[in-house]
Amino acid sequence: DFTKSKTISQQRQNLPIFSVRDELLQVVRENQVVVIIGETGSGKTTQLTQYLYEYGYTVNGIIGCTQPRRVAAMSVAKRVSEEMETELGDKVGYAIRFEDATGPSTVIKYMTDGVLLRETLKDPDLEKYSIILMDEAHERSLDTDVLFGILKKVVARRRDFKLIVTSATLNGEKFSNFFGGIPIFHIPGRTFRVQICYSKTPCEDYVEAAIKQAMTIHITGAPGDILIFLTGQDEIEATCYALSERMEQLISSTKQPVPKLLILPIYSQLPADLQAKIFQKAEDGARKCIVATNIAETSLTIDGIFYVIDTGYGKMKVYNPRMGMDALQVFPISRASADQRAGRAGRTGPGTCYRLYTKNAYENEMLQSPVPEIQRTNLGNVVLLLKSLKIQNLLDFDFMDPPPQDNILNSMYQLWLLGALNDVGDLMDLGRKMVKFPLDPALAKLLLMGEQLECLNEVLTIVSMLSVPSVFFRPKDREAESDAAREKFFVPESDHLTLLNVYQQWKANEYRGDWCTDHFLQVKGLYKAREVRSQLLDILKTLKIPLTYCGPDWDVVRKTICSAYFHNAAMLKGIGEYVNCRNRMPCNLHPTSALYGLGYTPDYVVYHEAILTTKEYMQCVTAVEPHWLAELGPMFFSV
Ligand code: ADP
Ligand code: MG
Repeated sequence: DFTKSKTISQQRQNLPIFSVRDELLQVVRENQVVVIIGETGSGKTTQLTQYLYEYGYTVNGIIGCTQPRRVAAMSVAKRVSEEMETELGDKVGYAIRFEDATGPSTVIKYMTDGVLLRETLKDPDLEKYSIILMDEAHERSLDTDVLFGILKKVVARRRDFKLIVTSATLNGEKFSNFFGGIPIFHIPGRTFRVQICYSKTPCEDYVEAAIKQAMTIHITGAPGDILIFLTGQDEIEATCYALSERMEQLISSTKQPVPKLLILPIYSQLPADLQAKIFQKAEDGARKCIVATNIAETSLTIDGIFYVIDTGYGKMKVYNPRMGMDALQVFPISRASADQRAGRAGRTGPGTCYRLYTKNAYENEMLQSPVPEIQRTNLGNVVLLLKSLKIQNLLDFDFMDPPPQDNILNSMYQLWLLGALNDVGDLMDLGRKMVKFPLDPALAKLLLMGEQLECLNEVLTIVSMLSVPSVFFRPKDREAESDAAREKFFVPESDHLTLLNVYQQWKANEYRGDWCTDHFLQVKGLYKAREVRSQLLDILKTLKIPLTYCGPDWDVVRKTICSAYFHNAAMLKGIGEYVNCRNRMPCNLHPTSALYGLGYTPDYVVYHEAILTTKEYMQCVTAVEPHWLAELGPMFFSV
């Protein structure tokens, strides 16, 4: 009811950061670079930008604030535009990949760190910004880490430029030292005690344990909302479903009144309107239960949480040498993350955190803090970007924590395979063009091969469809019906061509929304694909690359896919079983593939990516002719 009864300006004045507003502005005035440390929810992300704006930092440029997560950039921009009583996209806007909600009057721009990183390609000194806030620096995302090195140079070149680094954890020293010992400002905390309860024994099924714990709290616990930390979308959706089923069972099995439970998921791919719901208050007498990924750890602050259920796991992108690529994998979280998660229960009053792991695991098995992304992922995009910024020797770049040399060399090898780098590691023409697209190197290459093989129109559609979440809609309890609907779109020799087919049929039906619904397709996903397509088309236009059409014979499209994805070529080993031609990794046809169970198993395929679930599966597969592979990548065929 705090949010109901207090005006926005009262809420703003009630935040811990408000009490140090003047001191903060003074530190920023007197220093070119500062580090600001403050607990999650103290007001760093929503208030600092406004203070700087009120103080006049937008006279000679705009204020930029980076976020490692898209959801945070969007949600915070929306909140700040409400606080400033302007339309989103007017004074306050946001930019994420393929989505720019800023305008000519935007003075506070929230964006992902990746967006700012790409802006340095066009404007190395970031002239349009008077000040940049690198928010959530403790997350140590790959793009933030690269920005550290780049912004350090901007700071040296532009005396009129200011940089603020903010963090929710006490690792300010490291950031301060990187910039030569700059001041660290602490926002005084205001948190309540959180009681920690550990599992007595290691837990076998943390999803089930979390569901049970949430139900126990709901039935026996004092009022207060619940926040559950899980690892990803599927798990979260399944948990929300299970919770609502348990609630129904409970209601129909007892005569006692059962209090309402409002169950809300939050993860990065959740549509924005559903994301916004987590901030709404539950109706009187109801309890809110938010089921989240680690997005709710520090990037989004939800008020009213009294109970945290921490499963102890999270997903991380990690380079998997066996698969030869990055894969999202479930890992135990670090102690620093566990402490952040627990802290979420103590923002509104004294709370409780249930850790579904043992005290021993916390004390002796968990890492002190997470391994920075730059040390565990593929650096293909980063290498391409730094090479375009004329950084010759990447081993000399000013990294806060340098990536392992093997990572750099491996990424360079992959770029060399794609033809982006030459034998001595210099950027080739193709690489120079590839970096213009906000895409992974292989997808950018696919587009450019579409130009060469004269089917750019078709390939553009495929690349756009691959840049959005799956457009196939498979509602629970209508699985058979939706599978049948999907099969109608199948092009038997290719999942890529199936995507192309879906898009072209949608187009032939005037891009209609009801047509999507009738065919079990996600309307929003297809609109997004159309939007991505038009943005990529704009880039192609600026590069003066004309759109070419191949017509109804799509073999050339398959050949084009083969030419950009031959590093992901696989050969048949058994029914539905393939091995990667290069590294012999087993990779299986997924049951949802168009190639599956159609009595058609080609000897050679290429795939978009491998995913690791119960085993390694190929995601998005296309049958290819062996002689295409022989033409394109003979070095792999020492079979
Ligand atoms: P920090 O960045 O220090 O973690 P924020 O600036 O994100 O803190 O949040 C400060 C406060 O703003 C939160 O405690 C919350 O009350 C409010 N807030 C932030 N985002 C939203 C939102 N989308 N809807 C409602 N309130 C919000
Ligand atoms: Mg924040």
